[in-house]
Amino acid sequence: MRGKLVVGNWKMNGGLAANAALLSAIAAGWNAPTGRELAVCVPYPYLAQAQAALSETRVAWGAQDVSEHEAGAYTGEVSARMLVEFGCRYAIVGHSERRQYFGDTDAIVAAKARAALATGITPIACVGETLAEREQGVTEAVVLRQIDAVVAAAGADIARLVVAYEPVWAIGTGRTASPAEAQVVHATLRARLTSAGGQSVPLLYGGSVKADNAAALFAMTDIDGGLIGGASLKAGEFLAIARA
Ligand code: PEP
Repeated sequence: MRGKLVVGNWKMNGGLAANAALLSAIAAGWNAPTGRELAVCVPYPYLAQAQAALSETRVAWGAQDVSEHEAGAYTGEVSARMLVEFGCRYAIVGHSERRQYFGDTDAIVAAKARAALATGITPIACVGETLAEREQGVTEAVVLRQIDAVVAAAGADIARLVVAYEPVWAIGTGRTASPAEAQVVHATLRARLTSAGGQSVPLLYGGSVKADNAAALFAMTDIDGGLIGGASLKAGEFLAIARA
């Protein structure tokens, strides 16, 4: 059976004092039902804080990106091996904000996923179409192109991936894909993953998930959990989503 997973993406938010309160409230409120996992992906400078706060709890942590390079003259980059030293279980790769503002192409995202896998970190590979692409009717072509790049890079490690479908028009906008709209794309992704041997890969939905819409989304056949941005910054809301 595929595991259920909810992951918080703090984006570029946080501060030492606020993080301490948030991490301890999340850890205290999560009783980790069987087959369900909760994780937070924090900015790099807070990884040590997340590691200290969560290592004795049932909440996992990770980073929001990772370098495709192993080591060397790559100023500003953070390698997968460094993330391992801070106990990261996950690294998000290919978030639409990285693709949009930082030039992450499908090839770069694939290389980042490979770099994470090589050190035992689970990449959470994000795919999703823009509003213009949806309106042009090319949603399926876009997400398949994006997932194919990551699947090819994963090779025999495909079962160690997590994939998140995040329609770009739903991220941080308050506009969510309806459960039926999300399910259509998830079914397409599921079929592609299954044909490549990745039938057990958890497939998350992300884009303005809140406590009041999570249950309906997570009830869909091919949705195994969520990647949560804004709502992961409030412990009560994040835990309510995780319990959904
Ligand atoms: C995200 O950052 O991955 C995300 C889904 O953001 P939000 O939940 O705020 O739309």
